[in-house]
Amino acid sequence: MEIAIIAHDGKKTEMVQFLMDFRAVIMAKDIKLIATGTTGKHIEKAGLTVEKYLSGPYGGDAQIAGRVAEGKTDMVLFFRDPLGMHPHEPDIAMLMRLCDVHDVPLATNPATAALLMKAI
Ligand code: PGA
Repeated sequence: MEIAIIAHDGKKTEMVQFLMDFRAVIMAKDIKLIATGTTGKHIEKAGLTVEKYLSGPYGGDAQIAGRVAEGKTDMVLFFRDPLGMHPHEPDIAMLMRLCDVHDVPLATNPATAALLMKAI
């Protein structure tokens, strides 16, 4: 199972804590993590293996959207910062749209992400 992790800057600390909380599940289910560039660096620093794509503003969200469209990514956990401005908002909208098009589970806040992780 491949899970994509994306965290806006204001949510990266919370994202790392989230992954630590679910570390046992990630290991036990042999989950492959993929992430946008800077998010991925934080995940690696926390000791988990992750496949990194470009940083979000440079196309990372679009790359992950492509994997969703190709059926390679099974779930997207998106730790969005609703209070921040993001230059790559069109890419973010595309990612969310493609999750809906392909019926791929998408969490846009930690509470939903936790429910999804408990369900797998
Ligand atoms: P980042 O991108 O992980 O490279 O910070 C996340 C985003 O803002 O979409």
